Amino acid sequence: MRFEDLIQAPELLDAVRELGWRQPTPIQEQAIPPARQGRDLVGIAQTGTGKTGAFLLPLLERQLGQDGLRTLVLCPTRELAQQVAADARALSRHTDFWVGEVVGGLPMGKQIRELRAGVELLVATPGRLIDHLQRGTVDLSGVRALVLDEADRMLDMGFRPQIEQVLAACPRQRQTLLFSATMANGVHALALRILRDPVRVEAAPSATAAAGVEQLLYPVRPERKLPLLLHLLEQPGMDQVLVFTRTRRGADRLATQLEAAGVSITVLHGDRDMGERRGALDAFASGAARVLVATDVAQRGLDIEGISHVVNYDVPLDPEDYVHRIGRTGRAGATGQAVTFQTAAELGQVRGIERLLGYRIARVSLQAFDYAGGGAARPEPARTNRSGSRFGTRRTDALSPEQLAELLRVG
Ligand code: AMP
Repeated sequence: MRFEDLIQAPELLDAVRELGWRQPTPIQEQAIPPARQGRDLVGIAQTGTGKTGAFLLPLLERQLGQDGLRTLVLCPTRELAQQVAADARALSRHTDFWVGEVVGGLPMGKQIRELRAGVELLVATPGRLIDHLQRGTVDLSGVRALVLDEADRMLDMGFRPQIEQVLAACPRQRQTLLFSATMANGVHALALRILRDPVRVEAAPSATAAAGVEQLLYPVRPERKLPLLLHLLEQPGMDQVLVFTRTRRGADRLATQLEAAGVSITVLHGDRDMGERRGALDAFASGAARVLVATDVAQRGLDIEGISHVVNYDVPLDPEDYVHRIGRTGRAGATGQAVTFQTAAELGQVRGIERLLGYRIARVSLQAFDYAGGGAARPEPARTNRSGSRFGTRRTDALSPEQLAELLRVG
């Protein structure tokens, strides 16, 4: 299928061409036709599937030639909102649309001036949008289309009351599009309540990890995690590595340790202000920093091309966070690798993830890594790469539980 089969407006088709989008992604093929007709829609898709284009293109086309704030996109994080706004600007560059951004952490004054000057499409995070609603600096009464992007994450982050307020400020007669990586219960209930006869489109079956991502589980003792990460970072191909920790403090600690080991790093978490977050993303995107250490709060909405590896330094508590995290690699058809470090205490969480995925993640042990510490590395065998894996790894699925326990020597 071609974009010409999905949209007609030449100014949008030109922009799509200039962005280098040759053909629609599966979610775009499915979502654009019903969304163009004005249907409500529930889209199950993660970042990286082209979902932003899937809702922006039909909504922009429907709004062509109309003034006033007609389209509102709600996003959970500033980073995602800024990316959606950037995509909207790129796609509408040959139209006279103004795309506005209302996100926390940036000065109100500029946003108020922008809103006064008139925007046709507004991308917002819930908290800041409510600020503007309360001050009377934004008027949503003309909104014809509302997009809830990453609805699951917005609910996880506790934005339910804000979403309700926004819904109440928008006209009842409107088109609503809800996108979510997973259809957890809360999202399902919200979708049932606010969508009218929605079309359901799915980039991949719910909770399916991104295709093209090789997932590996590295059982390791807690005190050997840092040496294991440093060992992995020495392997070829580890060019742009996104490392997840569970807590902000953990992120800062790991960043300090990596820096001390001479690795170029940058950190992204909720404690950092807007300028620091942008700086961190820019450093990572430009290659100035090889490793980005991030927490889950910061991981949503990241859209950086070419991430080769995601490392879960800590197993996420929520299985769905795992799916989101590993969605950062293997983007837009590229292959990537998602590596998860698992200590004995985290086995339960891994089982939860595997239940959600519906399959087992391959267990791996590195032949050349000293799992016990103290320099007792097993000698590198002559041919480590028979498995075809990039790290000279050995799948340990064949090991007995006793062998695994011995390998881990947990105690
Ligand atoms: P998204 O899932 O919306 O975050 O998009 C992920 C990335 O894919 C972004 O960098 C988009 O610019 C890019 N993209 C979206 N649609 C297409 C397409 N049809 N062909 C190629 N790249 C695309």
